[in-house]
Amino acid sequence: MKDTNMLLDVVIVGGGPAGLSAALLLGRSCRQVVVIDAGRARNNVTQASHGYLTRDGVKPSEIKAIALEQMKAYPNVHVAQDTVDQVKHDQGIFHTITRSGRIYSSKKIIFATGMQDHLPPIPGLAEVYGISIFPCPYCDGWERRNEPLAVFGNGENLYHYVQTIYSWSKDLIVITNGPSTITSEERNEMEARQIRIIETEITSLTSQEGKLDQIVFRDGQSIRRKGGFLLDTGPEQATRIPAVLGIPLDEGGAYATTSDYGHTAVDGVYIIGDAKNSFTGVIGAAREGYYIGELINKDLIEKDWNTY
Ligand SMILES: Cc1cc2nc3c(=O)[nH]c(=O)nc-3n(C[C@H](O)[C@H](O)[C@H](O)COP(=O)(O)OP(=O)(O)OC[C@H]3O[C@@H](n4cnc5c(N)ncnc54)[C@H](O)[C@@H]3O)c2cc1C
Repeated sequence: MKDTNMLLDVVIVGGGPAGLSAALLLGRSCRQVVVIDAGRARNNVTQASHGYLTRDGVKPSEIKAIALEQMKAYPNVHVAQDTVDQVKHDQGIFHTITRSGRIYSSKKIIFATGMQDHLPPIPGLAEVYGISIFPCPYCDGWERRNEPLAVFGNGENLYHYVQTIYSWSKDLIVITNGPSTITSEERNEMEARQIRIIETEITSLTSQEGKLDQIVFRDGQSIRRKGGFLLDTGPEQATRIPAVLGIPLDEGGAYATTSDYGHTAVDGVYIIGDAKNSFTGVIGAAREGYYIGELINKDLIEKDWNTY
């Protein structure tokens, strides 16, 4: 695309699987599209992404590189490495302002901006997160199956999380990093399955090149585990711009309120992928991009047909 000062059909904020998939579908629909991507996807920490048919075990950056390479076939799609700082909505047109000072005007805007994780402040956790401690057993459980694992977490979702991870490994220790909210019934169920519960605060995690070695506790004891799963990664919206445009977060305060497909309370604004759903997964995010691309194109087709 030569002239980015033209009125674009769609600006897509975020070039993860959700945003790039929408760009591909819209590009193939002859739409003028700009994708603006800051390149800070939450799975950048992982060595291999799993569960996406034909791309199982591939590094996230490689999946993205393939997508960007294939996008070059569509000169009507421009991908800019930049950060969106502000979006102004004026008489049905969206003016998207980037950190580098570019302004893109469009009929529609998609936020595929994902979530940013804010890990609990445990020394050593950042070094192992994405390499031997993970949030999602469907993404990384197979590689950890039957290993001695730790499950880090507390609160009402912990019991279900432990039950889930137990189907990949029976050798579990649950670490609540302080007094737990586990009920006596849940405790009995876990102990019946030889799942130990440790409520002592963690001092640090030790590791070698991201591989968890020991969990060290405030009372001086330590245990060896090969890896684990972390229930709460502290996810927050990567950007507040949709909220500023008038799109509320859901009751829990983490995810955007949208229709099933990503329509929002503001006409012409769509939110897809993790920002709308919690953990969509790469294939789920890509599916949402494909779907919303088709729905937006249908809407534009109707308008074009009536203004020929
Ligand atoms: C540790 C870990 C491991 C995972 N493993 C797997 C796995 O094995 N398999 C799987 O299917 N899923 C996995 N996931 C989940 C997967 O990463 C997400 O579900 C998926 O990436 C969501 O895609 P998305 O496009 O919605 O968001 P993202 O991939 O997070 O992309 C959002 C993009 O938007 C950009 N952005 C945000 N704000 C702005 C802004 N203001 N301006 C410009 N750009 C912006 C970000 O920088 C980022 O590049 C994993 C996640 C984590 C955290």
